[in-house]
Amino acid sequence: AEDPKLRVLKDVFGFDDFRPGQADVMEALLAGRHVLAVMPTGAGKSLCYQVPALVLGGLTIVVSPLVALMQDQVAALRLAGVAADTINSSIDREANVAAWRRVASGQTRLLYLAPERLMTERMLEALARLDVRLIAVDEAHCISQWGPAFRREYEDLSRLRDIFPDVPIIALTATADESTRTDIEARLFAERVETLVLGFDRPNIKLAIEAKQDGKRQLLRFIERHAGRSGIVYCLSRKKTEETAAFLEKNGVTALAYHAGMSKDARDANQNSFMTLSGVVMVATIAFGMGIDKPDVAFVFHTDMPGSLEAYYQEIGRAGRDGREAEAHMLFGLGDIRMRRLFIDDEEASVEHKRRSHRRLDTLIGYCETAQCRRQVLLGYFGEEAQPCGNCDNCLDQAPRADGGAEARIILAA
Ligand code: ADP
Ligand code: MG
Ligand code: ZN
Repeated sequence: AEDPKLRVLKDVFGFDDFRPGQADVMEALLAGRHVLAVMPTGAGKSLCYQVPALVLGGLTIVVSPLVALMQDQVAALRLAGVAADTINSSIDREANVAAWRRVASGQTRLLYLAPERLMTERMLEALARLDVRLIAVDEAHCISQWGPAFRREYEDLSRLRDIFPDVPIIALTATADESTRTDIEARLFAERVETLVLGFDRPNIKLAIEAKQDGKRQLLRFIERHAGRSGIVYCLSRKKTEETAAFLEKNGVTALAYHAGMSKDARDANQNSFMTLSGVVMVATIAFGMGIDKPDVAFVFHTDMPGSLEAYYQEIGRAGRDGREAEAHMLFGLGDIRMRRLFIDDEEASVEHKRRSHRRLDTLIGYCETAQCRRQVLLGYFGEEAQPCGNCDNCLDQAPRADGGAEARIILAA
């Protein structure tokens, strides 16, 4: 039972992992909820509706403010083999008629329209007769009178929720300020909306990487600093999750294992204990995590290096959802690099795919080995600029310690 949105991401768009936030947005839409997604520029907002459009089938209407932008998107989608169309004033009448035929006959999956084109009575009536399953409003700050790019023709879009009462609507913008957001919520959704503000930074998660030595002892020392708290320990292999959980139990830590080789009942029981009790440490493979939304996870500990920076980001993001201090701690050694390289080489995949996997691995290794602020490197990879964070091992190592500084002055003065 593979995740259908992941299947589409890979098969149609050729990407291996979701970017931060994408999966959350898609899941909410696929569950039929309205979503306002606030994500930085370059975060990958388009896929947030393009993937669900293909999972849902039927017709998705995309409202986009600029003709050039629509043309680009349609061209890119067609290159990927997706039936996309646009009807707009820059193409001739015949092309528009042909596009409409494809839409009306059910061939088109995504139809891009400017708001003034969509909100004519004729267009709305015609679309209401079709199998519309999703509506996306891109650059949604144009709806808000407080937004930096308010456009009158967007105001009308508030009628969409009445004309298509059963169709989930997603609004997307990179404009995160509060008044713009609440204005969009009120106008487009009458406040019945799930708002997901997905900047990539999770400043309350302390980031650290430690050279791998006697892994189990290092893990135990780490967990002792978090006694009684819930946490997740990721291991590369199924066998290792069970061994590690047993080792922790023997040392007085409440620990459970989770991997895809266990029976469904055993997995469900362990997941349930983790979710409902406090102070349980889940020792798991990456099979554990999808849809885990427990607010008080105090740490995520990687006993082995993950497969990519995206995977790492997703996994550590399960810590500290309550906004309290949390820690992401990884053990890293040459053995991890060797193991991951072997994995990629042994994969049943094209040369091009393997090259891409190696490149992604190199990015992650770069993150592990950097002496720079880790958050800067991590966010930079997702296109977000940041100042040194003061909450990663590299920042903290460089901070002059009060006592150390005094000592250094004495030594240097002598
Ligand atoms: P936004 O609208 O948020 O500014 P876009 O939707 O234009 O961002 O996407 C920015 C770039 O990121 C595009 O080149 C897109 O192909 C790429 N991208 C989006 N999602 C992913 C992903 N999951 N993996 C790799 N690249 C992605
Ligand atoms: Mg965009
Ligand atoms: Zn830092």
